Amino acid sequence: MIPVMRPLMGEEEALAAAEAVRSGWVAQGPRVRAFEEAFALRVGAAHGVAVSSCTTALHLALHLLDVGPGDEVVVPSLSFIATANAVRYCGATPVFADVSAETGNLTAETVAAVVTDRTRAVVLVHQGGVPADVKSFEGLGLPIVEDAACAAGSTYHGSPVGLGASLAAWSFHPRKLLTTGEGGMLTVDDPEVAVRARRLREHGMSVSAADRHAGGGVVLEEYLETAFNYRMTDIQAAVGLVQLGRLDAIIARRRELAARYHSLLARIPGLRAVSDPAYGTTNYQSFWVELSEDCPVDRNEVLNRLAAKGVSARRGIMASHLEPAYAGHPHVALPVTERLTSRTLILPLFHELTAEEQDQVVDALELACDAR
Ligand SMILES: *Cc1c(COP(=O)(O)O)cnc(C)c1O
Repeated sequence: MIPVMRPLMGEEEALAAAEAVRSGWVAQGPRVRAFEEAFALRVGAAHGVAVSSCTTALHLALHLLDVGPGDEVVVPSLSFIATANAVRYCGATPVFADVSAETGNLTAETVAAVVTDRTRAVVLVHQGGVPADVKSFEGLGLPIVEDAACAAGSTYHGSPVGLGASLAAWSFHPRKLLTTGEGGMLTVDDPEVAVRARRLREHGMSVSAADRHAGGGVVLEEYLETAFNYRMTDIQAAVGLVQLGRLDAIIARRRELAARYHSLLARIPGLRAVSDPAYGTTNYQSFWVELSEDCPVDRNEVLNRLAAKGVSARRGIMASHLEPAYAGHPHVALPVTERLTSRTLILPLFHELTAEEQDQVVDALELACDAR
């Protein structure tokens, strides 16, 4: 079976994790700090605050904006469900907006259509690694949280996604390009916000446990506010540091494979594949294709047929408003979201995918769509 994704990990990651274990420092410590600095530098952010997942990073970001009961936060329904759930964690209401058919991302128009006087923020997702047109949202005058779970190494107007973001949340789940097993990062531009974010991930402590131990003498910490345990471990950060060193090679390889998919897939009539928007480049975290309007075969049947041929594809990006967890949740019409979620599928793309396997995927897809 050709998997849809396989993380690129080697002996270096195993050794780095072992070194962290041998050092005796396994909770958040010096490796977490080093990973934060290296990651922030790579994505052009002023400060990195490592956390346990992108989901907890999103929760912290909204908490930092003081989002609470009675507030509304605009999110795309077309996203992993954690994007919307983070709003509910704050007791606020996620308000679903539709997306661009081309990129799968929110647009200033779709957001403006759902803004009310209770709107407190927008969570802008760089879906599947395709950068959102961040600057186009400035006119809305609303705080923006970037859900960059998938976007490590994607670019926007020639700079890394994340450069200049006031709050951006990143994921290191194995389904993403870089992995620490589980893990996430919040990047922040304001130094005072970064101080508070560090405190919020660690029970609201005035002095981090790592600084207390490193300091030697007796330091009594205070708990300044009700907060969370969203820490990353030094074992995870050790792996993350090695993974970060692979990022450029991972993206180069994914883009090479994506270009090859583009030329192979051209023979399937009407099939549309994700590609770079005019203003940036995607890291091809998810290589999705949209079936043509007149493809006689239903998307789920295409997935079944691919599986029967040894190709593990996945449905396209989910639509949160269609899940039971959001049953009865009011929303505007979301026609593009519903079309993309029902007509798209994600093809296998990972560092060690071979040309032969890629040919096999495209042959299987051509057959599955009855396009031959
Ligand atoms: C994967 C993903 C998340 C959740 O990331 P975790 O690190 O697993 O919490 C959030 N948003 C988007 C867009 C994602 O793709």
